[in-house]
Amino acid sequence: MQTMEVTLLGAGIAGLSAALGLQRAGFKVRIYEQAPELGEVGAGLSLSPTAAHALTYLGLKPMLEEKAYKPDDQAVRHYKDGRVLQRVNRGKALLDAYGERYYVIHRADLHGALAEAVRANDPEAILVNRRCVSVTQRGRIVEVGFADGETINADVLIGADGSRSVVRTCLFGESSPVYTGYIAWRGLVPMDRVPPDILDPPSGLFIGPRHMVNRYPVRNGTLLNFVAFAEREAWTAEGWSIHSTVAELLREFEGWHSDVLTFMAATPPDQLFKWGMFDHEPFEHWYRGRVGLLGDAAHPILPFLGHGAVLGIEDGVVLARAFQAAESPEEALQRFQDARIERASHVVRESRKAGKEFHAADPESYPERARNRAADEGRGLFAYNPVTQPV
Ligand code: FAD
Repeated sequence: MQTMEVTLLGAGIAGLSAALGLQRAGFKVRIYEQAPELGEVGAGLSLSPTAAHALTYLGLKPMLEEKAYKPDDQAVRHYKDGRVLQRVNRGKALLDAYGERYYVIHRADLHGALAEAVRANDPEAILVNRRCVSVTQRGRIVEVGFADGETINADVLIGADGSRSVVRTCLFGESSPVYTGYIAWRGLVPMDRVPPDILDPPSGLFIGPRHMVNRYPVRNGTLLNFVAFAEREAWTAEGWSIHSTVAELLREFEGWHSDVLTFMAATPPDQLFKWGMFDHEPFEHWYRGRVGLLGDAAHPILPFLGHGAVLGIEDGVVLARAFQAAESPEEALQRFQDARIERASHVVRESRKAGKEFHAADPESYPERARNRAADEGRGLFAYNPVTQPV
């Protein structure tokens, strides 16, 4: 098997994690990416203990230690009076229980480190400006067609091409994501524009009726990342880089605590975006023949638990281990699906539930609802290790 070249589509966080894992297992990889150059949007990302285990396996623990912010206590506050409703430990308590902690990081830092590590193993591994438009299987050959008219033949293809995956559509037909009724804004604020006394502690949530705001520092504390969720009846625009204005955001959060409005108001106009959230039922099949899916392509997820990239990174490690253990690509893809589908579907469902909890009308009852979820986090979210999960 190790003499086989593995072709991946999509150099996002999931595709790059898989590529790095496969290289580590002795495989040659080629990743075809549609973007003209590699990059990630300016936003933060939280990484749970399970992702930290996976990144350690991939050799990126030193990068995490250098670039990521390590939150200790996270406070959940009341939207109007700023009262602390709950404190959650994201450091020592998790380290003691699960051997790892939470990290928060700028997406571009993580994405850049993954790409650099893949290219250090093989400078030719990533090919940009290659948008896949078709996938056809003929016996053991996978024919991949690109928008420029070129076709390549692959021994095995992994679609890591995101929630609107072309590979998934070619395998299983169009899916029909449903608009959830939630939209979100994301912003990055230079920390020197934020009064330090409104960040106690720096990582935290504010919960209000049908609205929620999450904020934490990235880039060694030089930027404050925030995501603000709200309800909106209808939404049709695609993508998550639609420009918004501070005035629109402040209108939506009128009446909220001044600590929230202060950092929102300090957002530079070119660092504020909005998008609508769409939900999918978990997919039951992640591969057919020699073509498989991973990351958001296999299990699109709502962002309420900050676990989409976490799942993609876990996938990368488990996929590499499945290829290492198997004797054929079909067997590797079956092993991967068997090892991952329950875990991913569980997290996808929990994320949906968390969205409903955050947006329930009454912030006062949040601590009780969160306690129930916290018990479940222990069982379902963190008590998992992609490095030791049987494949
Ligand atoms: P993507 O990042 O979508 O990458 C897919 C890649 O495939 C892209 O590079 C794309 O250009 C390429 N591509 C697509 N189509 C083609 C094609 N036809 N041909 C070639 N290439 C193609 N996750 C967390 O773990 N923690 C968080 O805190 C967190 N916060 C989030 C906050 C928000 C607001 C949102 C929206 C998401 C958040 N997530 C978080 C989720 C996370 O960002 C995604 O789940 C994760 O990035 C998915 O990675 P991926 O590689 O599977 O897909």
